[in-house]
Amino acid sequence: MELQRVPKGDAHIHLRGGKESYKATISSGMQLARMNGISFVFDMPNTNPPLTTVKAIDDRLKLAASEGCSNGYYIWAGVTADPNQIAEMVGLVEDPSYPVIGLKMYAGPSTGNLAIKGEKEQRDVHKELAKLGYTGPIAVHCEKESLFRMELWDPDRPQTWADARPETAEVESIKDQVRFILEFESDAHLHIPHVSTTQGIELRNKYSDRLSMSCGITPHHAAWSAEDMQGHSGLLKKCNPPLRKEATRRKLYNLLLDGKIDWIETDHAPHTVDEKLNPPYASGIRSLEIYAEFVYNLQRALMQRRLSQLVSAAGAVEQARLYALRRIEELTYYSIKSVFPKVKE
Ligand SMILES: [Zn+2]
Repeated sequence: MELQRVPKGDAHIHLRGGKESYKATISSGMQLARMNGISFVFDMPNTNPPLTTVKAIDDRLKLAASEGCSNGYYIWAGVTADPNQIAEMVGLVEDPSYPVIGLKMYAGPSTGNLAIKGEKEQRDVHKELAKLGYTGPIAVHCEKESLFRMELWDPDRPQTWADARPETAEVESIKDQVRFILEFESDAHLHIPHVSTTQGIELRNKYSDRLSMSCGITPHHAAWSAEDMQGHSGLLKKCNPPLRKEATRRKLYNLLLDGKIDWIETDHAPHTVDEKLNPPYASGIRSLEIYAEFVYNLQRALMQRRLSQLVSAAGAVEQARLYALRRIEELTYYSIKSVFPKVKE
């Protein structure tokens, strides 16, 4: 199959380094990305310390530079409920000299301590952004804690993670964000990372004429399901939001083929095996390790699907091959670039 003509980008990665160097370093993560043809990455702010202040972000940029990783390295700034902090982070996104490409809000608990769990506080963040006239991207981790059913989580049956953090928690949280943005007529671009529900994808497409919105899917949510989490080693596939039931996964994959999802983002999040197999049973998957195979299989699936629509046409194979190639380039590069003009590559 023909190789991609443009580099790839990863809009969602958890590079470690610093206090978390025992998990991985910035340079080891960047190296893995480059081996996959990825030339730029957006690092997530739930690091230790979190990237919620100018100082923490400056220190992070210095650390990346000290590891020789300034090229293609960008940051999502974490937002808190504090209006002054929000204004400061907006300033960084709007400053062309800073490689800060957008804001990240955790509207639910995940790794780190950045969650803004209350709906009122989340609403206030959107209100503040509208007041500031912010037009940049805000990625929101959408999982509503009040809908979690943690009593269903049994580490001896890792697949129960999907029951403890059900699909409805994601869907209702996305609805909240859309409602807040419309309420304040905010011009921010809402990005739903690691979408894991068909309803979430439907919402993204339903509201596309009323607000600027995108969603990304990870290789693991599209390729694996909760059924793949049987047995103790299933804990290695624990992530937030959880892998879904196989029936949902298949629908997600079809929606990806149908062009209903904006891009592929890895959410690559390394932990040690010990942290994953024992308490705290850390959430996060080394998704860059399955990325290349995933993209290759997707390209083949896109080509086959196109070919079946073109059966008798002359040059059908060539047409289908070009179509699949273009779609992959969209999903791994052009769609991301269109939302993040700051990216130079
Ligand atoms: Zn993540």
